[in-house]
Amino acid sequence: MTARDLAIAANRALAAAGQSDMVWGHAAVRDPDGRGIWIKAPGWGFEEIDADRMQLVSWTAGVLEGDGEPHKECHIHLEILRRRPELHCTVHSHAHSAVAFAALATPLLPISHEGALFGGEDVPRFALTGGLVRSPELGRALAETLGAAPAALMPKHGLVAAGTSAEAAVMHAVLLDRACRTQLAAMAAGPIRVWSDDAEAAAKRDECWPGAQLDAGFAYLVRKGGRP
Ligand SMILES: [Zn+2]
Repeated sequence: MTARDLAIAANRALAAAGQSDMVWGHAAVRDPDGRGIWIKAPGWGFEEIDADRMQLVSWTAGVLEGDGEPHKECHIHLEILRRRPELHCTVHSHAHSAVAFAALATPLLPISHEGALFGGEDVPRFALTGGLVRSPELGRALAETLGAAPAALMPKHGLVAAGTSAEAAVMHAVLLDRACRTQLAAMAAGPIRVWSDDAEAAAKRDECWPGAQLDAGFAYLVRKGGRP
């Protein structure tokens, strides 16, 4: 599958996972020829993306293929992928549960399989701004916050996720949002009393989320979302 086709599949998988915020948010895949990133064009929802609604955006945020301007927040993807050459895909969404959970400023606990994605450590949070990541400087700061983690919360805004494959990046975004949703439900019902200790959380991260499981989850979402 080409990088463009992978990016299309990633966007549609995010729609199938319920991460749509009308036309906002985006997944991006590194161009294998080093020209930049394949990212959806502005003005379309995740589920509306096809080959004609994609752009190849250069490392300096210029549109090399496709129509119109790039998303203002393309710097999220450009700067994370520039900083970490081993990564192939990044996701930014305004997933509702992630935004709601981030507002509580409480640690994300490993109370579910999804919650163990972070191995018992809290999820990174981008504190510099709750506004748009619309410059290379802000993109670099967000990349620094993310570090080597699979995903990070962006309080007052959304989430960012990354992976060595489109499958991993999308699933990291999906699992973070699900972990937030599960913890919100538990906290709404009462105080949380049971969660994995560090050893169990670390073991579950490896047991529950190897690459093959991330691939399987992504494939399911692509089937659920339908092909363009
Ligand atoms: Zn955003």
